Amino acid sequence: MPPVVTAVTDRVHFVETDLVNWTIVADDNGPALIDAGFPGSREDVLWSLGRLGFGPADVRAILLTHAHIDHLGTAIWFAQAHGTPVYCHGTEVRHSRREYLEQASPHDIIGRAWQPKYLKWSLAITRKGALTHEGIPTAQALTDEVAAGLPGAPQAIATPGHTGGHCSYLVDGVLVSGDALITDHPVAPRPGPQLLPSIFNNDEDACRRSLDTLAAVEAEVMLPGHGPLWRGRVAEAARAAQTRVS
Ligand SMILES: [Zn+2]
Repeated sequence: MPPVVTAVTDRVHFVETDLVNWTIVADDNGPALIDAGFPGSREDVLWSLGRLGFGPADVRAILLTHAHIDHLGTAIWFAQAHGTPVYCHGTEVRHSRREYLEQASPHDIIGRAWQPKYLKWSLAITRKGALTHEGIPTAQALTDEVAAGLPGAPQAIATPGHTGGHCSYLVDGVLVSGDALITDHPVAPRPGPQLLPSIFNNDEDACRRSLDTLAAVEAEVMLPGHGPLWRGRVAEAARAAQTRVS
């Protein structure tokens, strides 16, 4: 499936692909990315920026919800080739630098979940560079001062659990929830607001507490890391995920 770009507000553009999503937030001074796809998503990321009239050198910053390879992938290239600053929650910095890795490998996943959809998905993400172990040595903690200077003045909301330093961003009245709350996934049993399967989560209890945090966010649109955008109260999506059985 080619990426689908949705203009959510004047500044916020949601880019959905079958494997992972990212968000472009742009004002007159240029764009910032929230998440950056797999390493092999570069063509799609550049295409989505190009649709809004931007080239790779225009990207002012990349904000990560977390440092899994499907979210930081092309940020490795942006940082190396263009010196693009990459920011994340302070607790996620060392993960982004790959001083440690808090992610199930495709090998672990096949070993534990051998259903055909896991196999198909594992092969698809491997083709997108999921086995890349490279990090971003220049990744830094997002400060309030830096955030205030970025398009839409994104506000970080700590939502740990999926990874130790996962955060969501409230930008232009829209919640970018990353993998703290998704609406679908290639290995999900069915669509709808949900947590990722527990095999992908570092701390399942913390994931559930972060749903309480998100339930208190006043926003009417949510852009998840996986699955289609959600229109409606974020609290409703968080509650649906909390009460979901599988
Ligand atoms: Zn993800």
